[in-house]
Order: sequence, then structure tokens, then C-alpha cells
Amino acid sequence: MSRQYLVKEMFGPTLQGEGAHAGSPCVFLRFAACNLSCDWCDTDFAPDGATRCTADEIVKTLIELDRNRARMVVVTGGEPTLQWDAPLSEALHAAGFRIHMESNGTRALDGPVDWLTVSPKPQFHPASISLVGGLPVSELKVVIDDTVDETTLDGYTKRYRCAHYFVQPCMTAEYDRYLARTLALVHARPSWRLSLQLHKILGVP
Ligand code: SF4
Repeated sequence: MSRQYLVKEMFGPTLQGEGAHAGSPCVFLRFAACNLSCDWCDTDFAPDGATRCTADEIVKTLIELDRNRARMVVVTGGEPTLQWDAPLSEALHAAGFRIHMESNGTRALDGPVDWLTVSPKPQFHPASISLVGGLPVSELKVVIDDTVDETTLDGYTKRYRCAHYFVQPCMTAEYDRYLARTLALVHARPSWRLSLQLHKILGVP
């Protein structure tokens, strides 16, 4: 019997809102469940309302959603590495999708992707969970709240060698303060660029 994945939602066509591919048309595959519980998490990844799907069912739904045939799927969660594996990666590649994954960086990748965004949240890790070294990181995206400073960014730059480093203000009630802090960090560490959550600003789902 084929493996089933617990999928919270699939939707599109929409736009990738963040990072180096902001503005790119895509479809989204959101898995249920996460291994962290960040205070400011704004994503509903609870298993309630999630659906069990095989790889074939996921691919079929994403092809139907991808009406503009952009063939880029953003795989997220929750934490997508909890369920990601080689058979699903192969099925999506066979259908022509480029796979862009967004992970918190605390788990190894059990199947290939074409673009890996790591967005670490160590301030919310239990002692038993730490960041994984050696991941094939394409871009690093750090959400800025009061806990992140220049030293934090320097630590990540040393840990992860990649082409793109982004800082992104946390979109909570403290947004104005976090945005000012983010802009100050960009000027203090120019190898880091500003990422905004374009989809939220535009009201795109
Ligand atoms: S790692 Fe991401 S999805 Fe998981 S709780 Fe934190 S912000 Fe939410």
C-alpha cells in the first residue's frame, strides 16, 4: 500500500511571498505538524482538518491547481521534513515541478529538493532539538524579533554558507519596531538583505 502523507492544505496558483523568489508564481503544499511551537507562529498546521494523501494524489491535485503551468511548488508546514521523502520528491520531479522547501533547519532532508530555505528559530527549540549542519541550504531567512542581533546573524553566516541571506521582520503587533530593527541590521550587516512577506502585504493567500 502506498504511503500516505498528512497534508494540511494545497492551494494555488499564488505567489511565493518571501526570499529570493518573492513574486514567483507557484502552488503550495503545506504539511500538517511541526516539531517546534514558536510563540509568534501564524501558521495553522494542526492535524485537525488535514487530509491523508498518497504521492500520486498530491501530484494530481498540484497539477490541477497549477493552471498557469509555472511548475514551482513551495513545500512547507509546519515542518515539512517530518514527512518529506524520496518517493514524493521523485513523483513531483516526474511531473515537472521545481521543489522549493521551507524548513526550520532542525531535521535532515530525506529526499532531494531544488531549493532549500532554512528559517532557524533557536529561541524556541527545546534543549533536545538543535540545528542540523550540512544541509544543502540555498537561502537563509531569519525572522527578526527582540532576540536577534548582529552576533546572531554572524553565527548563522559562519554556520551556513549560501548565496542568499535574508532578514525579515516578524509580522506581529510589534511589526513597526521589528521592521526598524531589521533595517538597522541590514545596514550593520550588508550581506543580509531585507525580505518582506509580500503575500501578506498584497493580501494574496
Ligand atoms: S517552526 Fe515555523 S511552522 Fe513550526 S512553530 Fe515555528 S514558525 Fe510555526
